[in-house]
Amino acid sequence: MSHARNCGRLTHPPSPTHAEPPQLRPIDTFLGRFHVRRPQLRPFGGRAGRRRPERARFLPVADFDDLLAANRRFADDFDLGGFDGVAHAGVAIVTCMDSRIDPLRMLGLEHGDAKIFRNPGGRVTEAALEALVLGVHLLGVKRILVVPHTRCAMAASTEVELREKVGASAGQDASWQRFHVVEDQRASLEDDVRKVQAHPLIPDSIGIGGFLYDVDTGLIDRLV
Ligand SMILES: [Zn+2]
Repeated sequence: MSHARNCGRLTHPPSPTHAEPPQLRPIDTFLGRFHVRRPQLRPFGGRAGRRRPERARFLPVADFDDLLAANRRFADDFDLGGFDGVAHAGVAIVTCMDSRIDPLRMLGLEHGDAKIFRNPGGRVTEAALEALVLGVHLLGVKRILVVPHTRCAMAASTEVELREKVGASAGQDASWQRFHVVEDQRASLEDDVRKVQAHPLIPDSIGIGGFLYDVDTGLIDRLV
C-alpha cells in the first residue's frame, strides 16, 4: 500500500449517512449572517513553517455535490473547448471579490474577452501587477481598468475592526492577519493607477483608467 493511500485510509472520516439531512448552524460574518453545513472534521497534514494551534489543525470537509452536478450540466453543452487564453477584447480588469460585481457583463464583454484579477477592495497589489504584466505582454491586453466599488467592506472598516470581527468569527486571535483596508477610496484608486502606470514593464501605449462601480445602479464612473 502506498504512503498516500495509507494516509487517506487513516485520515478520512466515516462517510456521512444520506438518511439524515445536513445539520445547519448559523454563523456571523462581517458581511452578514448565514447558515452553513456543520463541518465534519478531519486532520490535515499541515505545512512546514507556522505552527497552528491544536484546535485549528482540522479542516471542514465541505459538500460540493451540488456544484459538481451543475458542472456536469454545464459540460453537457460545452462549446468553449480549444479556446485560447488571450484577452480577445484586449481588456484587463482589476476589481473587488464582491459578489455583486459581474466584471464581464458590466462592461458588455463576453467569455474570453478579458483578463480579470480580483481581490478584497480591487487593489493593485504585487500579484495584480504580475497579472497585468503577463496580460500586457503575453495575453493581448491593451487597456487596463482598475474598478473598486461603492459600499465595499474594505473601505467601510478599519484594519482593527476587521481583525476583531475575524477574530470573533474564528474564535482566536487574528491580530496578526493583514487586511488591506481602504481609508480613502479615491486616493487609493489614484495610487493604484499610478502603480500600473509607473511599472517599468507596462508601456505607455497601454490605456489605464481608474473607475468606481456603483453596486446599486450598475453604472461605472471614471475617476482617474
Ligand atoms: Zn469590495
